Amino acid sequence: MLKHEQYDVAIVGGGIGGLMAAFRLKESAAGLHICLIEKGAPLERRKCPLIAKTARTCVRCPSCAIMEGLAGAGAFSDGKYVISTEYGGWLTEFLSPETVLDYIEQADRILVSFGATTQRFQPSDTLKKLCLQHDLHMSQAQLKHLGTDSNFDTMRHMVESLRDQCEIETHTTVTDVDREAHIVHLRGREGERSITAKHIIFAVGRVGSGFFSNWCEKNGVELSNNQVDVGVRVELPSSIWEDFSRQIYEPKIWYRSKQYGDTTRMFCFNDRGSVVAENTAGVLTVNGHSYRDEARKTQNSNFALLSTIRFTQPFRQPIEYARHVASLANLISGGSVLVQRLGDLENGRRTDESRLAQSTTRPTLDAVPGDLSLCMPKRQLDNIVETLHALDSIAPGSANYDTLLYGVECKYYSARPAAEDFELAGCRNIYAVGDGAGFTRSLSQAAANGLYVADKILGRNV
Ligand SMILES: Cc1cc2nc3c(=O)[nH]c(=O)nc-3n(C[C@H](O)[C@H](O)[C@H](O)COP(=O)(O)OP(=O)(O)OC[C@H]3O[C@@H](n4cnc5c(N)ncnc54)[C@H](O)[C@@H]3O)c2cc1C
Repeated sequence: MLKHEQYDVAIVGGGIGGLMAAFRLKESAAGLHICLIEKGAPLERRKCPLIAKTARTCVRCPSCAIMEGLAGAGAFSDGKYVISTEYGGWLTEFLSPETVLDYIEQADRILVSFGATTQRFQPSDTLKKLCLQHDLHMSQAQLKHLGTDSNFDTMRHMVESLRDQCEIETHTTVTDVDREAHIVHLRGREGERSITAKHIIFAVGRVGSGFFSNWCEKNGVELSNNQVDVGVRVELPSSIWEDFSRQIYEPKIWYRSKQYGDTTRMFCFNDRGSVVAENTAGVLTVNGHSYRDEARKTQNSNFALLSTIRFTQPFRQPIEYARHVASLANLISGGSVLVQRLGDLENGRRTDESRLAQSTTRPTLDAVPGDLSLCMPKRQLDNIVETLHALDSIAPGSANYDTLLYGVECKYYSARPAAEDFELAGCRNIYAVGDGAGFTRSLSQAAANGLYVADKILGRNV
């Protein structure tokens, strides 16, 4: 229960963006009264039945432990920390690349002080050249791999250190914010109440983007968004990509398909990892994890292969579109996610239990064998198959018959609010940071964004 009724700063959302903002504010101005409000559970109580292996399929918990709770969507993430501005978000549309990189480095130093590894993977010009020779384009970045388990520990140490300095309220949802009076309305286990704060930071992540967009619309803050990425999670034996993963850890490669001229991206690579299902507001999609702990590693690697769709007028609901595609996969799999062998897909037949049993690639997720062509639009599926064959030329075996495709994976980008230096248009001292505001799509940029806005509140970077 929050102790006060008035705060200097209220932070909505306890993901890496919100936590970094709280950390910087307390580190620099110990006297400030700060509260951080998180709708999900404390970190140590976040238990996904699928990860804990107490359920075989997603049981659709009222609050998804993967996406919500202290440490946000990053809590069970692979903890790949991108030290580059080449990908991971759009902060360079607002700040110089040097400033963004400087903040990413600052956030990294904070994470290291809480136990994150100092080991960095360097980009490889040789591999980039190999890709170019096959009309594939690889993004270059320094990268750290915290690993799901040690990333979790790092965030736990950070939250523990903050608890002494800032009031953290979990299981409490911010339901509204009065933009003039700065009243923050909360709903928690004890019912409804409100507080006031001089400064308010929305750091609600992808899971809170619907709430945040509605709030912006209600309060006259203009929004823009027209992009969504839809595709599959690819799983194959880890040896196929090990020439890349050993050198750069995470290959991020994009390809322009010959058939449609669309961009398809390979990213979110998990070496010797597992495929997981995640529940985003009631719709099941797929994702991937990998652990540093040798005992939890698998024989397979997985990555996202998603085709980018940019809608034009009059359609303005890219997220709803992706959710419909993913819901179809949920529908035909009886409330789960689908898995299909590439060879079966190309031969126009369903993967069933007996065909899956013959697969030399053993699935790491208990998904329902089926037919992706029944739920994914032809254009995206064609792009994915064409891209897999292009990838096969640099990592032979990528387009094997038994390459497993799980569907559907989507990356939604939250609608972006009109803002001046992250202060929402027409809303004095109300800011937005991170994935929920469509400014970022990675741990490093969300962290950098949180630190930057905290500095802005402190009057440091004006
Ligand atoms: C499975 C998975 C793996 C990933 N792996 C990586 C990776 O390896 N590397 C990488 O860079 N990125 C990864 N990402 C993306 C990364 O996690 C996000 O970019 C990052 O967490 C964004 O941080 P954020 O603070 O903006 O939002 P989030 O981390 O999403 O945090 C937002 C928080 O706000 C809370 N919230 C929302 N609405 C409200 C409300 N109304 N009231 C109170 N609280 C609210 C939510 O419960 C959530 O905890 C991964 C994401 C997922 C889901």
